Amino acid sequence: VASLPVPSEMAPPTLSFEFFPPRTEALEQQLWTCVRRLEPLAPSFVSVTYGAGGTTQERTHATVARLVRETSLTPAAHLTCVGASRGEVDDVARAYWDAGVRHIVALRGDAPAGEAGYVPHAEGYAYAADLVEGLKRIAPFEVSVAAYPETHPTASSADHDIDNLKRKIDAGATRAITQYFFDTDVFLRFLDRAHAAGITVPIVPGILPVSNFKQVAKFSAMCGASVPDWMGRLFEGLDEDAETRRMVAASLAAEQVRLLRANGVDEFHFYTLNRADLTYAIAHILGARPKPVL
Ligand code: FAD
Repeated sequence: VASLPVPSEMAPPTLSFEFFPPRTEALEQQLWTCVRRLEPLAPSFVSVTYGAGGTTQERTHATVARLVRETSLTPAAHLTCVGASRGEVDDVARAYWDAGVRHIVALRGDAPAGEAGYVPHAEGYAYAADLVEGLKRIAPFEVSVAAYPETHPTASSADHDIDNLKRKIDAGATRAITQYFFDTDVFLRFLDRAHAAGITVPIVPGILPVSNFKQVAKFSAMCGASVPDWMGRLFEGLDEDAETRRMVAASLAAEQVRLLRANGVDEFHFYTLNRADLTYAIAHILGARPKPVL
C-alpha cells in the first residue's frame, strides 16, 4: 500500500488564506480572531474578496488597508470588472497601490444577484484578461487570476477555458488560484491540460474546508464545482451535529491535501470563510508550524 507523506519528510508548504470583508461588528471580530490565529503560519499572502458587483468595495479596501497597517501579512485585494467603467476600476487599483498593496487577484466577477447572465459594462473591462492588462498599465502589481479545474460554468468548452487562462497569464498574471474541488484527480488532470497548453506559472489548488455541507452543496451548484455522492454520504445525518461535522470536514480536507502533496503539490490556497480552526489544523497536517510574528 502506497503511503502518504508525513510532515517530517516534506519541505513546509507555501500557504495563502482567503478572507471576506466583514459586514457587521461581530463579523469583524470573527475575522480578526481568524487573522491573528493564522498569522503565525506565515502565509505567502492573504487575500480579501470583493463582493459581487463591487458591492464591498469600501469594506474590501478597509480590510486590506488594516491588514497592511496592523499585521505582518502581505495582503492581496480581489478586484472585479462588474458594474464599473475602466476609469473607476483603475481608480480603485491606484488607491490600492497608494495604500501599499502590491498584489491584486483580478477577476471578471458575476452579474449581481437577481440579474440574468453577465453583461460587460459599456465602458468597462469585459473579462479578467482585460483587467490584468489594465492593472499592468497602472503599476507593476503582482497579479493572480482564477482557474477552474472543472471548467468555468459558462465557458463554451474546456479548451476555450484553458485558452482563457493562458490569455490571463500572457497578460501578466503570475499565479492561478483554482475554484475549490473535492475530487483530487480532477485537479491533477487539469494541471496536465494546463501544462500541455504551455501554462507554466503556479496553479494553486483552492481548498475549501467544509464546515457546513448543506451550504457548500448549494453554493457548489451555482459555481460549477461538483460535490461527489460519497461526500454527501460522509455528511449524512450530521446537519444538527456541528462537532462531528467539523471532525469529518477536517479528515476529508486532510486526506485531500495529503493526496495533493503526494502528487507534488506544495502550494495551497485556503478559503477560510473567516474561520481559522479547520484551516489551521489542515495547515498543521501539511507541516506548517507557527513562527513568531514580527
Ligand atoms: P474570466 O477569466 O474573464 O472568464 C469568465 C468566463 O468568460 C469564462 O467562461 C471564460 O472562458 C469566458 N471568457 C473569457 N474571455 C472571453 C471572451 N473574450 N469571449 C468570450 N468568453 C470569454 N467573484 C467575485 O465577485 N469576487 C471575488 O472576490 C471573487 N474571488 C474569486 C476567487 C477565486 C480564486 C475564484 C476561482 C473565483 C472568484 N470569484 C469572485 C468568482 C468569479 O468572479 C467568477 O467565477 C466569474 O464568473 C468568472 O471570473 P473569472 O475572473 O474567472 O472570469
